[in-house]
Amino acid sequence: TQELLLQSEKLSVVGQMAAGVAHEIRNPLTALKGFVQLLHPQSADTHRQYFEIMQMELNRIQQILDELLMLAKPQSVKYTCEDVCRLLQEVIALMDAQAIMQQVNIKCRYSMNLPRVNCVPNQLKQVFVNVMKNAIEAMPAGGTLSIRLKYKKTWVEIEFSDEGVGIPAEKLSKLGEPFYTTKEKGTGLGLMVSHRIIHTHGGNLQIVSGMGKGTTVRILLPAVSQ
Ligand code: ADP
Ligand code: MG
Repeated sequence: TQELLLQSEKLSVVGQMAAGVAHEIRNPLTALKGFVQLLHPQSADTHRQYFEIMQMELNRIQQILDELLMLAKPQSVKYTCEDVCRLLQEVIALMDAQAIMQQVNIKCRYSMNLPRVNCVPNQLKQVFVNVMKNAIEAMPAGGTLSIRLKYKKTWVEIEFSDEGVGIPAEKLSKLGEPFYTTKEKGTGLGLMVSHRIIHTHGGNLQIVSGMGKGTTVRILLPAVSQ
């Protein structure tokens, strides 16, 4: 098992540039998607197959842009004082269908009297979605995703532990690099975006993993003093 502290500084410039580019690509992409849809042949000829590939590839570009654009609106966000339990429960409800389909059992434990955190709720929920998606995807044969919420001195700690394939030690340093993915349909942006969001919240995201040992993602957020 090896511990990794993801460095967000080296990512921030890349992230900002990528977000700018993503924004520029979005309008022409929307036009392309619309016209491909309009021209999509109804009959079962060979062109139909080509159109389906075109639509799939356009969707993939859109997915990448959507993730990149998470970084694009840092000015328009509003911080509010939130109960992390509540946010987490909303995300669990959202992820439940996917978890059940993949035979993943989500277990959640909370400490009593957890303090609140100052956050942009949708951004924090985006991080939880990204991390939980990765955990579920790491357990193709099913398993348990254990989530724990604790109060640690001045921090609220949220821990996501899976029983998945794990991450080999030599690959740990690659996590959070833009476009690093080991998945056929991955974007390699989920962790970069997550790390950046946690960092702008004054928090910290750590990943502990080993090959065949499962993975734990630990998020620390500053607690609002009570
Ligand atoms: P994506 O999920 O699109 O590949 P991410 O940034 O979310 O992009 O993750 C990058 C890579 O980190 C994944 O492709 C995977 O190899 C590895 N990874 C992330 N979370 C886990 C996990 N819980 N278990 C195993 N590997 C993981
Ligand atoms: Mg992911």
